[in-house]
Amino acid sequence: MNDQKRDYYDVLGVERNADDDQIKKAFRRRARELHPDVNPDDPTAESRFKEAAEAYEVLSSPETRQMYDRYGHEGLSQRAGATNFNDFGSFQDLFDAVFGGGDMFGRGGQSSGQGEDLGIQVSISFVESAVGVNRDLAFDGIDACGVCGGQGYPPGTPVDPCVTCAGQGQVRQVSRGPFGQFVRAQVCGACQGSGRIPRERCSSCHGEGRVKAPRTHTVSIPAGIFSGQQIRVTGAGHAGSRGGPAGDLYVEVIVQEDARFWRDELDVVSRLEVPVTQAMLGTSVGVATVFGEESVDLHPGTQSGEQVVLRGKGFPALQGRGQGDHRVIVDVRIPRAESDDARAIVEQLTDVLDERAYRDDGGFFDRLRHVFR
Ligand SMILES: [Zn+2]
Ligand SMILES: [Zn+2]
Repeated sequence: MNDQKRDYYDVLGVERNADDDQIKKAFRRRARELHPDVNPDDPTAESRFKEAAEAYEVLSSPETRQMYDRYGHEGLSQRAGATNFNDFGSFQDLFDAVFGGGDMFGRGGQSSGQGEDLGIQVSISFVESAVGVNRDLAFDGIDACGVCGGQGYPPGTPVDPCVTCAGQGQVRQVSRGPFGQFVRAQVCGACQGSGRIPRERCSSCHGEGRVKAPRTHTVSIPAGIFSGQQIRVTGAGHAGSRGGPAGDLYVEVIVQEDARFWRDELDVVSRLEVPVTQAMLGTSVGVATVFGEESVDLHPGTQSGEQVVLRGKGFPALQGRGQGDHRVIVDVRIPRAESDDARAIVEQLTDVLDERAYRDDGGFFDRLRHVFR
């Protein structure tokens, strides 16, 4: 493995007698060339960057550089604390480790921050979850301050550069990391990263640039949504600070139970109680569905556990095509024959109905097998 390693000076493209500054500059130039933003389609960029980072790690520390100069790659292989560049989750993580959150393109020190996401729960009925509904939401958000336009100070206020960070918005901390000494940039606490300190603060937002504001939003809840699913409304969260982008709004939808129905994937299921006499004679019954009342025909001799399917009266699939059914499960109610009259009629019926009246079409449990699938 070590045999195949390229010379570190060659990797960075510097002379063997290059000084620290030349090495640093060479590495930054190399890193800039190999940055994933610049080379999104180059699969070798990452490994080439790792190679350069490794070379820089060794050559930027006098101790390891001396070791390398004397013994080459072999002299370093047993060194404790060597960085394994493959330990980084992503190329970006690696960059962040090297450049401390990285302003190598001068993008650091941005004074604006993205607004926080906002979560809100909304409760809808079972029927609404099947047919879809628009819901007006009212909640407290954070908006850009209207008095100062989100700047945090009244218009026209003189603004001085921040003394703490010299107007950079960042303070640099030199620390000892996996690459030897490196510089980590942190947001300046004195100016919250803006690099500027106004002489007066906005009295409405106390310099925050943001204020609590009651807000309304109409969210469109699609038919077919499951309880607990979230709808993301991009940009409807809290306002960002000092002109930063707003966060998102997450609406968690809770579907209330309905005593008449339950849900089985895309199907609506309901239970239909039928008196035994109607089940024997056959009948037509009105049945509630999520789309309103439907008429259901029961044949003579309808059994408990039989199901009647109303095609397309269920939930639509959220993605793609398809619509579930409404399954009506028949529950034949058997009364007591307590009065003398009732007993007499049932006894008479017992005599009248012969074996053939009890047509064998499977048992009760066979029928119920299809109910909970
Ligand atoms: Zn500052
Ligand atoms: Zn303000």
